[in-house]
Amino acid sequence: MRLILFGPPGVGKGTQAKLLAQEFGIPHISTGDMLRQAVAEGTDLGRKAKAIMDAGQLVPDDIMIGIVRDVLTSPRVKDGFILDGFPRTLQQASALSNLFQELDITDYKVVNFNADDAEIIRRLGSRLMCVNDGKIYSTITDGVTLNDPCPACGGRLIQRDDDTEETVRKRLAVYHSTTKPVLDFYRARGVVVEVNGMATVDEVNQMIKKALCT
Ligand code: AMP
Repeated sequence: MRLILFGPPGVGKGTQAKLLAQEFGIPHISTGDMLRQAVAEGTDLGRKAKAIMDAGQLVPDDIMIGIVRDVLTSPRVKDGFILDGFPRTLQQASALSNLFQELDITDYKVVNFNADDAEIIRRLGSRLMCVNDGKIYSTITDGVTLNDPCPACGGRLIQRDDDTEETVRKRLAVYHSTTKPVLDFYRARGVVVEVNGMATVDEVNQMIKKALCT
């Protein structure tokens, strides 16, 4: 199974990717998680990416394409993968297409998560992340607060630096202007399946599996 999860920030791609990765035993490749790890480790990439991410902008294509190339040419993805957060520009989509050709990958699907901006702003404003295991919680639906420990591992819960309302609005603007057009690239190839990103976690999970079987 090779999946590309596509949609606006905060629509639940990461949550669904983690579930599907567990269910199908294939790696979850999140470019956002990789960048956050680089920031936490203070690498060159992390230092470069931090200011861009905090401003709600996109890290340059050549860097992102290089990172994804390294992962997709490694043996860990031999049984499949779930790409989350890539591609985000037409140039990334085109580079991924070339990479798939090079690796003889013809069978893949793009899952498009639909949600309106108001719901995204509401969700991201209430999103907390565990610094230890990366699990995502909502102050609204999970009833946790910044002062609580992670319900799963006891780690510290934080709000991501780019989840402030001002940055979320910028990320949404970048999504609409730069990322959304990538959908037409995949629609033209007939590989897109649609899901309603506003449904519950369990409902979206079922929708994805059903859509992939039809
Ligand atoms: P995410 O966790 O997917 O929302 O990504 C967090 C941030 O990392 C984004 O707002 C971008 O600044 C950066 N980022 C992640 N993936 C990409 C990508 N494919 N291209 C450019 N920037 C990215």
